[in-house]
Amino acid sequence: MKQSDDLKVFISTGDRDSACCECGEALGRGAWITLLEGKGALCLACADLDHLIFLPSGNTALTRRARKHSILSAVVLKWSRARKRYERQGLLVEEEAIKRAEAECLDDGEVRARRREREAERRAELDREYVERFALRVREFFPACPSGREKAIAEHACRKYSGRIGRSAAGKSLDEEAIRLAVTAHVRHAETRYDELLAKGYDRGEARERVEEEVLRVLAKWEGDHHSGA
Ligand SMILES: [Zn+2]
Repeated sequence: MKQSDDLKVFISTGDRDSACCECGEALGRGAWITLLEGKGALCLACADLDHLIFLPSGNTALTRRARKHSILSAVVLKWSRARKRYERQGLLVEEEAIKRAEAECLDDGEVRARRREREAERRAELDREYVERFALRVREFFPACPSGREKAIAEHACRKYSGRIGRSAAGKSLDEEAIRLAVTAHVRHAETRYDELLAKGYDRGEARERVEEEVLRVLAKWEGDHHSGA
């Protein structure tokens, strides 16, 4: 049996130097991490949760709806020194789920204001020129990819590397391998049951194995004739 407890993400209090046990990225105070039993901390990118968006606690109706619409979600917790316990800061949910929840709460003026704020923040994070070039490369290698997806993939890749000093040069590479990795990650989340499996408590290795065939099938379809060697 898989445990179906909520996935938990912790905001590190940074009492000791730690690093992601997979990619080695430094995880200081304020870093968002998941904990692997018996191993240590994982950054959100390695945990495959970095496509989720933070919805702070506060609006119960919005939170409840966003959670309902999100296949994969995680509770964000932070240690309170004063109260000596973990306190809930909010939820990580899919962007689509937040949008749907907001649309259902539009009679709430505060929700409308927050939505404008969130959208402005999301736009400000993006390096437009990079997104544009990345999207063109996606279209080049995967000419049969559904319309508009190249932009979603490019925006995610851009966000993923924007906050990562020292890795940004490699991350911003537009070579075929980098593009393929980004598209593969997108397909896994968007075209297979991968997120559903993670939400059910499968570990990533197991979940990836289960969807691998499906991922390869979608990639081949999106490639169209590009690699047919004609
Ligand atoms: Zn990592």
